[in-house]
Amino acid sequence: MPRGPPLCQHADPQVFRPAPHIENVRYAIRNIALEAARVEAEGKRVLYCNIGDPLRFDFATPPHLVEAVARAMRDGHNGYAASAGVLAARTAVANDAQARGMAKVTPGDVFITAGVSEAIDLLLTATLEPGDEVLLPCPGYPLYDAIAARLHAKAVAYHPDEANGWQPDAREVESRVTPRTRALVVCNPNNPTGATYSRETLAALLDVARRHRLLVLADEIYDRLLYGGTHVPMGTLADGVAIAMLNGLSKAYLCPGWRVGWLAFVNPELTRELARAVQRLADARLCGPAPVQHAVQPALFGPQGHLAEVMAKLTPRRDLMVKRLNAIPGIRCVSPSGAFYALPRLELPGLTSDEEFVLKLLREEGVLFVHGEGFGQAPGTHHFRVVFLPPEGVLGEAFERLAGFVSRWASR
Ligand code: PLP
Repeated sequence: MPRGPPLCQHADPQVFRPAPHIENVRYAIRNIALEAARVEAEGKRVLYCNIGDPLRFDFATPPHLVEAVARAMRDGHNGYAASAGVLAARTAVANDAQARGMAKVTPGDVFITAGVSEAIDLLLTATLEPGDEVLLPCPGYPLYDAIAARLHAKAVAYHPDEANGWQPDAREVESRVTPRTRALVVCNPNNPTGATYSRETLAALLDVARRHRLLVLADEIYDRLLYGGTHVPMGTLADGVAIAMLNGLSKAYLCPGWRVGWLAFVNPELTRELARAVQRLADARLCGPAPVQHAVQPALFGPQGHLAEVMAKLTPRRDLMVKRLNAIPGIRCVSPSGAFYALPRLELPGLTSDEEFVLKLLREEGVLFVHGEGFGQAPGTHHFRVVFLPPEGVLGEAFERLAGFVSRWASR
């Protein structure tokens, strides 16, 4: 990916210099879209399989949620809200958590944020000092790394096992713990692998956190997007663990642009001080977007029919993807059990960089995936992330072009 010169080495002393630590902040998912825009500007049609926004494809925000937000605006809820969020939204999140077995969560333990993204930012900022360590899944969602970099904290990778359906191994996680480790991030279902974790895996990870007194960030933003199976909320197994559950409306409720997310402290007696720190940070940024918070209650407790429709579309798309990818020599794809992502592996002669692979594919075939390097991956392995939100016709064409590209690659 052409990254341009390092941010802080402009020859011209007149040019204002940004802070050096921003050099480590990268977000491949958006960066690569710029290259796709260039390819499109040259007149080539691009098939987008790169971005986890259902509204770019044939999905729509449930009308009762749109109406709830419109009504909130008409009713004058356009000023600043309380910094921890609108009470009705906090109450809905707490009631939902209780109904799912997290009995101690009260509205006072919930913060409504500008997407899960802001919840991650608030929690890590309130937790990590410079030099502290946070255990992150690798491959994983890159915002965690970016925020750790901004805080001068150290992101320490643990590696879910691809050969075991991308399940994390608690023993490997524990082997990464040092006296500076403060937090463990678990993203279930996972972006970018689409894996969901078993009760045993989650319990073993929580045991590590309990013994080493780590804060667990349980990012469960895809918990309602499952291909069969059930999702086990980590908070229901977390006795004696400092844990925050993160979730929001972006994915399952099809409104990522509204920026509605939350964090909830599941064992509030263990995180009292941290909650006060988060409150301070929340106060300082005034509040999350206000009128859209009025959609939280109707989302969590109103009609859920759209979810069945979403899964009825996604299931054949997932099946098509797995079948078509595994039919291409040099590509192996673990079937995802949640979310709308997969991270197939590339084993091609002469392949040294999956970023190069993805960029060549984009330029030659007009198909856009995200390179595995953008999420981190085990050393010496190569992957690319597929978003299988597009309709089957688009996916089919994308995999056809990919197959042609790979066979040309193999005979180079
Ligand atoms: N966490 C994970 C694992 C994600 O995949 C995403 C978005 O793709 C987010 C958090 C951010 O979501 P939000 O739109 O709520 O900020």
